[in-house]
Amino acid sequence: MGNPKEIAATLIRGDGIGPEIMEAVLRVLEAVGAPFRWEEQTAGMAASKTDGDPLPAPVLEGIRKTKLALKGPLTTPVGGGFRSVNVRLREAFKLFANVRPARTYLPGGRYEDIDIVLIRENTQGFYVGFEHVIPIDDDPRAVAVASGIITRSGCRRIAEFAFSYALSHGRKKITIVHKANILKMLTGLFLETAQEVGKKYAGRVEVEERIVDNCAMQLVLNPHQFDMILTTNMFGDILSDEIAGLVGGLGLAPGGNIGADAAIFEAVHGSAPDIAGQGIANPSALLLASAMMLDYVGESEGAQLLRGALYRVVHEDRIWTKDLGGATSTRDFASALINRL
Ligand code: NAD
Repeated sequence: MGNPKEIAATLIRGDGIGPEIMEAVLRVLEAVGAPFRWEEQTAGMAASKTDGDPLPAPVLEGIRKTKLALKGPLTTPVGGGFRSVNVRLREAFKLFANVRPARTYLPGGRYEDIDIVLIRENTQGFYVGFEHVIPIDDDPRAVAVASGIITRSGCRRIAEFAFSYALSHGRKKITIVHKANILKMLTGLFLETAQEVGKKYAGRVEVEERIVDNCAMQLVLNPHQFDMILTTNMFGDILSDEIAGLVGGLGLAPGGNIGADAAIFEAVHGSAPDIAGQGIANPSALLLASAMMLDYVGESEGAQLLRGALYRVVHEDRIWTKDLGGATSTRDFASALINRL
């Protein structure tokens, strides 16, 4: 019989830098005594080559069973090719909430003490992929059309998630970000519904709203005015990278995809093909995602140990991978973390 405290979880190493950063994270998780019993699955380019599908059935079955996964980044071809595996996973497990916290670990940036949590609606909007082209004369792609879909129930669900997250994590303010001056129906419905939900939390969580372009500028000028941001799928995708930029880049930005049927934790960044195989990628974002996963299963002590070790290594010891301005390899960075645990 296995350890009764063990928690079965699906492991997907991913494409590009995925296997390198996952190896580092697994070493640190082992050192911290994380209770996960990994069930490994292959998705992405490797699965595409062997199975003809980047998201083969065993991966879906595996996650359906464990309801929990740690996932490395997966490559999606630009323009044509197969549909994003990330989007398919979000749809398959109704992972409607994408939680993307950004917090300062790296000293000496433009701002100190950034602490912003972005909640992104994860399954609707323009990313539903309802697109087509219209041929005219001899141009087969003369016109491109995309439809966005937003439902009141979907808005209510993500807004409820964001406000209850605020309460359970001691956050004070939610900024609803939209483009309801131009996309009056699509993001107007999002704004209207989120504000309605916000009224139930009056006196407990402050609510304000911003048009997305203004929000993007304000984030650069004065990020400290933001506590939590609640926004639609595409705006959340873009703004969360911007927020990652405020704390030292994508190498430090984790994310959790939380849904009715499962939760999948991953870095915000992609497979970084430009540095894959060189052993220089920063494993911190995936490590912070694994800390979110520990929080999710109630192992907050382990999560705090991981974040504390990362803070000491990056902030105090100033041990940095290349993206942070240092020269430490992925492997040595993981060893430094383990020494600091
Ligand atoms: P990317 O996030 O992979 O890389 C952007 C830049 O950041 C690159 O210069 C890269 O070297 C750097 N970078 C990213 N992560 C890093 C890390 N951990 N350490 C050091 N540097 C890091 O974005 P991209 O190049 O636009 O996308 C590459 C592929 O990843 C695409 O196929 C895209 O679809 C996919 N992608 C996947 C996910 C996901 O799996 N959730 C998310 C975003 C992009």
